[in-house]
Amino acid sequence: MSRKPIIAANWKMHKGPAEAVEFIEEFDNLIGDSSPVDIVLAPAFVSLSASKQALVNSELVQLASQNCHFEQQGAFTGEISIGMLQEIGVDYVIIGHSERRCIFGEDDGLINQKAKALHAADVKPIICIGETLDERDNDQVESVLRRQLTEGLMELDSDKMLDSVIAYEPVWAIGTGRTASPEQAQEAHRFTREVIGEIFGEDVSSKIRIQYGGSVKPENTEELMSQADVDGALVGGAGLDPVSFSEICKNTKV
Ligand code: PEP
Repeated sequence: MSRKPIIAANWKMHKGPAEAVEFIEEFDNLIGDSSPVDIVLAPAFVSLSASKQALVNSELVQLASQNCHFEQQGAFTGEISIGMLQEIGVDYVIIGHSERRCIFGEDDGLINQKAKALHAADVKPIICIGETLDERDNDQVESVLRRQLTEGLMELDSDKMLDSVIAYEPVWAIGTGRTASPEQAQEAHRFTREVIGEIFGEDVSSKIRIQYGGSVKPENTEELMSQADVDGALVGGAGLDPVSFSEICKNTKV
């Protein structure tokens, strides 16, 4: 089954509008006119509009938000609705990132509400899962991934799952410089695909794209991305630099 790789840069709380546009202009020159992979940038909320304008002539790069609220509107100070993101032209929304889970206390139930709201609005979620170091050391990788998938994807529509993306991001590899070995990544991705198959059936499990995230750099991209069940990358640190990010995109062989 061939799945088109998807490489996304999560800029987290970096790059205001001016820096975002600067990145896009430089990246545009580096990447050229075509790419065999889907490329996604996830700027901070305040940089989404400027990024969209800078991407107006780009057919290569799509836009993601790093978060959303599941309600359409209301008294939720500081939150952003999916409708607002659609107005800007956002294609994807990252949900369940480990920083949202660990720092802001988001749980699988909340992530499930966001996933349902995104599906209802026809916006594609990038749903992050992954175990902590403690959980890995205690042989809980599979039970944690199974729980995150079962609860986070509860009652989602199979058809909409085909356009959704899962990002396997072992928490111990995020921003630490410590990458999962290609074998560790493949095993977690294989298991993730198996659980998705149990929930949504063979068609979805064979077609859904599963990204790896955790200290992806130009130097380790090729080996990680060549694993059978790894369909792209969610990149933090190395996605802040247009040169590194363009190399990661180019080093992803289809
Ligand atoms: C991330 O935050 O999703 C991530 C993978 O970060 P880094 O690439 O810096 O480890």
